[in-house]
Amino acid sequence: MQLKEVLIKNGFHFNKRFGQNFLTDTNLLRSIVDRAGITSEDTVIEIGVGGGTLTRAIAEKAKRVIGFEIDRNLQPVLNETLAGLENVEIVFKDVMKMPTEEIEKIVGGRFSVVANLPYYITTPILMKFIEESDVVDSITVTIQEEVADRLCATAGSQEYGAITASIDAVGNAEKIMRIDRKMFYPSPNVDSAVVKITIDKNKYDIKDMKAYRAGVRCAFLSRRKTLVNNIMMSFKTDRKTAEDVVLEVKGDVMARGETLTTEDFVSLSNQLIERNLKF
Ligand code: SAM
Repeated sequence: MQLKEVLIKNGFHFNKRFGQNFLTDTNLLRSIVDRAGITSEDTVIEIGVGGGTLTRAIAEKAKRVIGFEIDRNLQPVLNETLAGLENVEIVFKDVMKMPTEEIEKIVGGRFSVVANLPYYITTPILMKFIEESDVVDSITVTIQEEVADRLCATAGSQEYGAITASIDAVGNAEKIMRIDRKMFYPSPNVDSAVVKITIDKNKYDIKDMKAYRAGVRCAFLSRRKTLVNNIMMSFKTDRKTAEDVVLEVKGDVMARGETLTTEDFVSLSNQLIERNLKF
């Protein structure tokens, strides 16, 4: 039976608040899991299982799938769509309210994330797994295309922002597929894309992640201001100190935050530490 029929049969009503736009095309779902590089060795967590279509595609490839879903009304639907799958567990909880350690405890080892994310919590979910966990291997997410372009942007471009620099510090983000809005049920107003982030926490020699994040926040504090001005504002320094920092990092006192590459941010974070600035 098609997902739409199962939803109707169970009297399911879509809840807009939860960003419920489901994917139903089996070929597309299989190709997402394929491109995510999931193998029979992998434990995968899925955020927002919806009608269980992506869950089923992951379960065909992975060793084990743990799916989280906020909407309990989907339980009877999932009882049907996931029937017969021995390697799937569903946890009906709001992922944003679960401490990351609780999720790690449920999984009990390393894992990858594969999800068609609810659009209203895309960034907080990404940051949660990127910043708070050391046992994530990769994160493959279907998100709004505009956000996907921000995750994969290069320094200096319009799409480049704090999230790009935060992710690039600990992994490699790659846009692996575009998905037309018509592929979702119901259809949202924008197209989507799938991004795979391969985590590599040793990619750069970052001495203190807190300093790195403070530098990134500072650089994007105000796009209209120079980095010198943003440093003075963020770390309450005099102009001379801020200029010395920027000369050290970028060699140009007029530099703007959005032109800093990840290497530059590493250098900025080292400057914050060496000069004892309060971050
Ligand atoms: N994976 C399904 C698919 O691809 O068809 C559903 C994707 S739909 C875009 C997002 C799902 O996330 C919805 O089922 C929604 O109820 C669920 N969701 C929204 N907020 C959530 C949260 N905070 N924790 C867990 N699940 C959530």
